[in-house]
Amino acid sequence: MAEPLPPRPDLVIAGGGFTGLALGLAVRQAGLEPLVVEAGSFDVLHNPAFDGRVSAIAPDVRRFLSVLGVWSRIEAAQPVRAIVAADGQAPSGLFLHFDPDLAQGEPWFHMVENRHLRRALAQAARDAGLAVVEGAKVRTATPGPGFSAVTLDDDRTCETPLTVAAEGRFSPLREAAGLSCVQWDYGQWGLVATVAHERPHGETAQERFLPEGVFAILPMTGSRSSIVWAMPEAAARQLLEAPLERFVSELKLRFTDFLGELSLEGPRWGYPLTASVARRFAAPRLALAGDAAHVVHPLAGQGLNLGLRDAAALAECVTDAVRLGLDHGGPQVLERYERWRRFDTVAMSVLTDGLNALFSNDNSLLRGLRSAGLAAVNTLTPVRQILGRNARGAAPDDDAAPRLLRGLAV
Ligand SMILES: Cc1cc2nc3c(=O)[nH]c(=O)nc-3n(C[C@H](O)[C@H](O)[C@H](O)COP(=O)(O)OP(=O)(O)OC[C@H]3O[C@@H](n4cnc5c(N)ncnc54)[C@H](O)[C@@H]3O)c2cc1C
Repeated sequence: MAEPLPPRPDLVIAGGGFTGLALGLAVRQAGLEPLVVEAGSFDVLHNPAFDGRVSAIAPDVRRFLSVLGVWSRIEAAQPVRAIVAADGQAPSGLFLHFDPDLAQGEPWFHMVENRHLRRALAQAARDAGLAVVEGAKVRTATPGPGFSAVTLDDDRTCETPLTVAAEGRFSPLREAAGLSCVQWDYGQWGLVATVAHERPHGETAQERFLPEGVFAILPMTGSRSSIVWAMPEAAARQLLEAPLERFVSELKLRFTDFLGELSLEGPRWGYPLTASVARRFAAPRLALAGDAAHVVHPLAGQGLNLGLRDAAALAECVTDAVRLGLDHGGPQVLERYERWRRFDTVAMSVLTDGLNALFSNDNSLLRGLRSAGLAAVNTLTPVRQILGRNARGAAPDDDAAPRLLRGLAV
């Protein structure tokens, strides 16, 4: 028989993925008693084997993870100090070069294997005494007067001022609350693989805009890189099922030999590229965070960053309200959270959608526009700044950003 739930946690967080655990840790650090409910096995989820998945961690999100005591536990992180974006296979004059013009030589971002981040979050959660129920789903979260009545799929119940849906892209709580999404399907799949190469990558990431889709080379520790390769679904399925030699030879055609001989490390896998943004990020006594609120094209490598920025903003809204003696699940708090996060998310979605439409196309008119666009972007400082700001997130001295993203305790 499963243990009863704590009768009235300060927050129930449905989903113990990146977003849910970061939020749980942040409010726990501020002295609250959240409860995280995770459908999977916590050990399996947060102690996984190498599966080739990596994420780009933006500087503001790294600061947040440092405050949580998570960053110092990450086993290996690869700084990326330059980004080259090229129209086609090789930089041919038509490319964007983002130099490390950041403060104090700060890298653009760090590449971290997802398994390392999951493990670090799980260790920090254990050490902080974060209450986690595993192997159970939140079935319903029904708003009542001053509380949300939560029922798990094993019939355990509790009441909380606020439930957070951090359940990933197919969020059942979002659906049940009638929060609809604007969705679009790129008709493309992303293939992901890790390659080992002869020569060092020089801490430089590459985004190549090929007619079939984006081909990104993202540096990992050692002489290794992660590949994110977008293409039409049918082509992706064929390549996933093709013999290894054929996959590698197609990969080499796109990668070229600029880093010497290549070999595949670990599995190759593919996933459909879709994007969505919820029309509202909150309903009575319910907030959406992470992929439950938005899914962006991995072209920008920002999905995880956006989710952790949600966690930082929501943690601040909730703890500020608690300190002022306000109802932290009430409409004022939820409106503040929604205002804070929705603009950033929609801006990121529009930016990545526009870039994808502009670049994943061999139309000659678009090729002309691209060439004009890339040349213009290289010379127009404000455009570079906008693209740069989106990649690296909030600056440490940006008073409008959540405190955690500036490296301050909540
Ligand atoms: C191939 C690929 C590459 C990517 N690369 C990057 C990158 O470089 N940089 C980046 O920033 N982002 C990247 N992303 C996006 C990033 O992985 C996601 O944005 C991120 O995983 C979202 O985290 P989340 O915690 O919101 O959701 P999830 O990771 O989906 O976690 C949701 C959790 O909720 C649990 N759950 C579901 N339903 C329930 C329920 N009812 N009750 C309780 N628990 C439930 C699930 O078991 C799961 O553990 C990439 C995505 C893909 C697919």
